[in-house]
Amino acid sequence: MQTTLDDYEVIETIGTGSYGTCKKIRRRRDGLILVWKEMDYGMMTETEKQMLVSEVNLLRELKSPYIVRYYDRIIDRTNTTIFIIMEYCKGGDLATLINKCKKEGSYLDENFIWKILIQVTLALKECHERKNGKAVLHRDLKPANVFLDTDKNVKLGDFGLARVLHHETSFANTFVGTPFYMSPELVNNMSYNEKSDVWSMGCMLYELCALRPPFVASNQAELNRKIRLGEFARIPLHFSDDLNTIQKKMLQVDVSKRPSITELLAEPLVASRLPKVE
Ligand code: ADP
Ligand code: MG
Repeated sequence: MQTTLDDYEVIETIGTGSYGTCKKIRRRRDGLILVWKEMDYGMMTETEKQMLVSEVNLLRELKSPYIVRYYDRIIDRTNTTIFIIMEYCKGGDLATLINKCKKEGSYLDENFIWKILIQVTLALKECHERKNGKAVLHRDLKPANVFLDTDKNVKLGDFGLARVLHHETSFANTFVGTPFYMSPELVNNMSYNEKSDVWSMGCMLYELCALRPPFVASNQAELNRKIRLGEFARIPLHFSDDLNTIQKKMLQVDVSKRPSITELLAEPLVASRLPKVE
């Protein structure tokens, strides 16, 4: 059955991002708390609109306990606005957590970082190895897009710009993402691929440990140089060699040496930490 805006009640605005505004809402029929993302498609070209539709259709297919669950979409033609309704993630995002640590002068617990590593890897597995479809790349992995639920489990969100790999070629050099986490292949104007998501995950894990990204610079040229070189300080010494080893593998400049998600999951250091029942 077609749902309408009247089926929901807006509770409050959570925040506005680059593509629209996020609001906390309540589903009237059962009181379920959800969020919707409002996006005005009025200024979009036909191609962009088509991409948006295919992206939303993809969201619907991504089902994993570690991915923000999609519920519904409503199109308001009068206001040229699309509302994407999804699960509300109560536990905040990792960017907030990193900022809190920085302010307090504390570090995140190593076990928590392993848990993030495992669960983000499992979320990416779902996108990269879809059984009846093309790989979906996240393209914007960063602490602000990793949410936590009440049990501190990962909910990967914001596939807002993810595209079907099939469509990739025509947008090969489009720059999307956080510059600090940009992979060497992207710096070198090569196309984004599954392993570029692994690089971004490596950057994010590094930042969770060190509370700063592995590569920082005050301008793009300097940042590009550092990323191509691929040199960075070890994560703080109190973190184990095991964690350091895995994190370094994800930050291999050479794409052929960098593990895919499947290879990562087969690494004994990772495999031994996978949840027993999937
Ligand atoms: P951004 O470009 O900053 O990611 P978003 O529109 O994705 O913008 O998010 C706006 C705000 O809403 C952010 O503070 C984000 O943490 C929050 N947010 C986004 N999705 C959810 C969700 N599913 N549950 C809870 N908060 C969310
Ligand atoms: Mg976001």
